[in-house]
Amino acid sequence: MRIAVVGGGISGLVAAYRLRVLLGADADIVVIDRAARLGGILYTGELAGEPLDLGAEAFVGRRPEVPELLRELGLETQLVVPAGLRPLVWSQGRAHPLPQRTLMGIPSGAESMRGLVDAETLERIEAESRRPLAWYPDADVDVYRLVADRFGAQVAERSVDPLLGGVYAGSSRSIGVRAALPTLAAALDDGAPSLTHAVAAAMPPPSNAPVFGGLRDGYRVLLDTLAAKSGAEFVTATSATHLARVSHGWVLEPVGSVDAVILATPAPVTANLLRPFAPAAASAAAGIELSSSVVVALGLPRDTALPQNSGILVATGEPLRAKAFTLSSRKWTHLAERETAAVRASFGKFGDDSTQTWSDADLIAAATEDLATVTGATVEPTAALVQRWPGGLAQYAPGHLDRVAEIESAAADFDGLAIAGAYLRGVGVPACVASGTAAAHRIAATLTRSSAP
Ligand SMILES: Cc1cc2nc3c(=O)[nH]c(=O)nc-3n(C[C@H](O)[C@H](O)[C@H](O)COP(=O)(O)OP(=O)(O)OC[C@H]3O[C@@H](n4cnc5c(N)ncnc54)[C@H](O)[C@@H]3O)c2cc1C
Repeated sequence: MRIAVVGGGISGLVAAYRLRVLLGADADIVVIDRAARLGGILYTGELAGEPLDLGAEAFVGRRPEVPELLRELGLETQLVVPAGLRPLVWSQGRAHPLPQRTLMGIPSGAESMRGLVDAETLERIEAESRRPLAWYPDADVDVYRLVADRFGAQVAERSVDPLLGGVYAGSSRSIGVRAALPTLAAALDDGAPSLTHAVAAAMPPPSNAPVFGGLRDGYRVLLDTLAAKSGAEFVTATSATHLARVSHGWVLEPVGSVDAVILATPAPVTANLLRPFAPAAASAAAGIELSSSVVVALGLPRDTALPQNSGILVATGEPLRAKAFTLSSRKWTHLAERETAAVRASFGKFGDDSTQTWSDADLIAAATEDLATVTGATVEPTAALVQRWPGGLAQYAPGHLDRVAEIESAAADFDGLAIAGAYLRGVGVPACVASGTAAAHRIAATLTRSSAP
């Protein structure tokens, strides 16, 4: 039994590991990745000699996938939770507390927005529940259209955009309500009379559980363990270029004949590989656009006067180049113990890839200056790292879930084919773990069925 996994990001590595668990020692698993290093968007670099994540640095804590996987792999001591500080949002040239009890920045009342938006907007939020709402069940619109229409543009730009910018490297204008806010869409479908009512219905109950988790020594510990325990053969620095269906399985170039294949590649690559035999699925996948970003990690003297906050998000329209700062040494207790304070500055939003072409020196200078502006601190980096993520994050535009359903149903027509990845049903690491797991189960079920006497 020979199975190829295309893409050695977290989705592909989880799929390879799960295949090993499901199929046993005899299965021949090969993981092929275009890059020289495994992990895709997950990458732990070294800042001042200590590991620091330069892609994802956290995962949503209320989802079970990552803690369960860490336990299963014997890595539970790696699990860390944030110190519990709140982020700020930089808007109109000053820092505000990020509003609490919102759904991805959408409030269920005016009070949480006080100070961040003007008096007219506050009145508009207060009056919203009395304005008739036209929502067509199963409709989808971009988040901006819904929020700006009901609560005003300031809520979209100052409260929602900073959060969507962090998750998708997009904005309320590039992200659809249904995929990004499924519980809100469900409340609207159920007939909520206003956005205020819908947000209140969709809001998860208050909880003291940590919102995020992370890994003490960075994601590389998880990646290395998955790779080792998968027992797979790794073909790196090599692109999969063509996939063809043949009578007894598949031929994947340049790997050769395989019984089954999991495509854990970004949407445009998956589209190219699907095109020869599933053209409709390929065009649906090709319709998913990507957004690029850059992370600059700054090492600072430990006594740098950073605020007591986990980070600073930047509202749309501010004259800064960075879109967000993670004050890593404030956010995570285990990083606070280090000699060098760490801050991550993020750049890049959907539709503006310009920072990809900036030199490292320009990016570090922009991160340093913008950090000084938003914190008022003297910022004198003693170390810096730059990591570019071209086309790193899928935009979940309106209609995303229909596109995904089309791709998934076309893939389901082919035995021995499964797809996984961040462009499908969640960009976060937990969703990728779930997606790689589901793909492995699908392949294992098919192969076990076909090899049954
Ligand atoms: C800056 C940034 C910060 C983030 N922060 C967080 C966070 O804090 N928390 C969180 O949960 N998520 C975060 N994310 C999102 C999350 O990291 C990603 O969605 C996730 O890692 C994607 O995993 P993946 O395996 O699906 O895709 P990828 O990591 O993109 O892996 C795809 C792999 O396919 C390979 N490939 C491409 N083409 C080919 C080919 N032709 N042949 C072979 N291989 C190919 C690539 O080299 C790559 O290794 C962040 C993303 C970014 C960009």
